[in-house]
Amino acid sequence: MTGRGAFIGCIADDFTGATDIASTLVRAGMKTVQSIGIPEVDDPMIADAEAIVVALKSRTVAPLDAVAQSLAALDFLRGAGCRQIVFKYCSTFDSTEHGNIGPVAEALAKALGQQVTIAAPSFPANGRTVYNGHLFVGHALLNESGMQNHPLTPMKDANLVRVLQAQSKGTVGLIDLPTVLKGAEHVRAAIEKAQAEGATLLIVDAISEADLKVIGQACHDHVLITGGSGIALGLPDNFRTHNELSGADAAVLPVVEGKDVVLAGSGSLRTNLQVARWIEAERPAYRIDVMKLAVGEPVVEEAIAFFDAHTDQTVLIYATSPADELRQVQAAIGAQKAGEMVEHALGLIARSLRDRRVRRFVVAGGETSGAVVQSLDVKGLRIGAPIAPGVPATVSTGSVPLALALKSGNFGEADFFEKALLALSGDQS
Ligand code: ADP
Repeated sequence: MTGRGAFIGCIADDFTGATDIASTLVRAGMKTVQSIGIPEVDDPMIADAEAIVVALKSRTVAPLDAVAQSLAALDFLRGAGCRQIVFKYCSTFDSTEHGNIGPVAEALAKALGQQVTIAAPSFPANGRTVYNGHLFVGHALLNESGMQNHPLTPMKDANLVRVLQAQSKGTVGLIDLPTVLKGAEHVRAAIEKAQAEGATLLIVDAISEADLKVIGQACHDHVLITGGSGIALGLPDNFRTHNELSGADAAVLPVVEGKDVVLAGSGSLRTNLQVARWIEAERPAYRIDVMKLAVGEPVVEEAIAFFDAHTDQTVLIYATSPADELRQVQAAIGAQKAGEMVEHALGLIARSLRDRRVRRFVVAGGETSGAVVQSLDVKGLRIGAPIAPGVPATVSTGSVPLALALKSGNFGEADFFEKALLALSGDQS
């Protein structure tokens, strides 16, 4: 325990967004812990972190609730010694007419006593760029990218100055690309000028990672920065010049000894492929029969007995089924009920296996991962190197560390399970 506190604290408005910015910080050389909700203060892995990312679920809740959650996260991060706070939202600026980007940014700025705050959602690696204050997704304007039809946060205007202004009490301005291209000193001067003219929030153009690094450099002394994951690219350098960061070692996780298992609850095409590959290789696999589960047969016990019968091999336990079979089950018992039953069963199985010394879990499915993590009482994750794009290896915080690979359904190649098991075993090759 260094006792020096973390350098950067992030408040992310959803879970996968938190993993995204945490992975970006690790790539930029900072030892990073992602917590699920507000972390436990005395956790040694938290105390040892150089960046802490608090994952909230505040993107689409009422603005007042989002503000309250974010201020609570801020309190924790300041208590943990963070010198710079990043409010992280989606690089497609997912928000409603009333928030929550504007209200949360303003509340954080007020709490930190900062008069002007940048908003830089650009994430060029994922095709999200901002030019003249307009957000592009690939070649399309935001409001023509499909995001205009999003069920919860329809984005019907690509002009972010206008979008943010509608959600904010203060005045929203723009730092344009020609200024960014001139370098950090010019960006700083433009921010000061905008502030003198009364602006409180500033959309900043960026179309490349180099632009984001310039912005990071320009804002090195801003206690609050807001943006997408891309903004994290330029921040660690500000600390590197003054402090020793972990650098390349940031992605190296503690080795976790114990047994391993693969749990699949995703019905996606990709996960079907990964399950098929496992079975073709004649590796042991237990299929959860959802119809049996629905009539109260002891499916969970059977799955555990299957695990116990294969102590010398890694076992896959899966509910994953091809789309037509899935539809039949859903028609018979209802999609939501079936989903909840499968998630509950996989959660119970995960917990029983942990009691059998399983310490490494590969989990397929976004909701499934949430259910498993909750059932295992995981509160935080040290983020390691990517196993597949968007899926880092992780090790949980807490007294019994678990190695976890949590993937959304459609992520990873056909051999993802094998690759993930290898990565979680500490083999970084
Ligand atoms: P993805 O990331 O692919 O969307 P999720 O885990 O988020 O995967 O969602 C898959 C949902 O489908 C979960 O609620 C899971 O419990 C449910 N599910 C998985 N297998 C079956 C099945 N055979 N029948 C019905 N529901 C299932």
